[in-house]
Amino acid sequence: MQQDIQVTIVGSSNVDITALMARLPGPGETVLADSYQLSPGGKGANQALAAQLAGAATEFIGAVGQDSHSEVALGQLDEEGVKLDRVARTIEPTGVAIIQVDSGAENSIAVVSGANSTVTGEAVKAAGAIEGILVLQGEIPASGIKAAMDAATDRIVLNLAPVIELERDYLLKANPLVVNEHEAALILAQLDGSESISTEAEPVIAQKLMDHGLASLVITLGANGCLVAEQGSEIQQLPAVKVKAVDTTGAGDAFTGAVAARLAQGEDLAEAAVFAGRFAALTVQAHGAQASYPRSLENL
Ligand code: AMP
Repeated sequence: MQQDIQVTIVGSSNVDITALMARLPGPGETVLADSYQLSPGGKGANQALAAQLAGAATEFIGAVGQDSHSEVALGQLDEEGVKLDRVARTIEPTGVAIIQVDSGAENSIAVVSGANSTVTGEAVKAAGAIEGILVLQGEIPASGIKAAMDAATDRIVLNLAPVIELERDYLLKANPLVVNEHEAALILAQLDGSESISTEAEPVIAQKLMDHGLASLVITLGANGCLVAEQGSEIQQLPAVKVKAVDTTGAGDAFTGAVAARLAQGEDLAEAAVFAGRFAALTVQAHGAQASYPRSLENL
């Protein structure tokens, strides 16, 4: 019997095409790269894999093309049992991120949204009911984000990365809003209707965001852990697990997916964030995004 869905992610899926080279080409220049690899990515797909691996029965709703990249984009999700029945197959190609990395780990990235741009309000509405906790990011059109929020019946985890324009009423549906320190400052400027971006300390920005009426908030701080804020309680700083980081790609997505999974299992936000910090710390010790996510929770 199929388990009830506990977490639904509406978002992006991409294929990352990463070429490794001694130095990045300048305009009009061709350089010979040493190697390349295709790997699954996109914040939505990454978070869906993380939520499933963190123990929640998870559905991913998004769109891919009718091309061979779609198999790479969804391969890990399919293998780990994420429900994919409502992923649309569009005439737009599967989203790709074309990444060039030089020997000093400097990179340049071009993202082609492709099928992700078709996850509009209309498409999300047509997909139907949202089950369990809803998780959203900023890599699909704002209309798609809003339609998913309108259809949600449980709490909404909003990882507004990248930060896109969203009306105040929709921003305040987040419970929690999960963002890094840069995104937090950008969203505060949006809520303040201000042109200038705050450079204040993270706890100050967190308090100001909460003063706008957010129910809860997590600001992730990389190796410094995260801040957790909930209405009616003091802001807490949770330290990160001390590990040797080799690649932090996808760590934020691992964290967000794991938070949603734990909230779905009845933990409170601080408990879920402690677990997510341990989960994300495992991922920074291995290369890649989805490839670095722990397939077993034994070491947690
Ligand atoms: P970030 O998106 O970089 O803020 O990272 C998200 C979460 O991943 C953080 O809140 C940490 O829990 C974890 N994390 C990221 N980088 C590291 C690191 N170098 N060491 C341990 N944990 C990390």
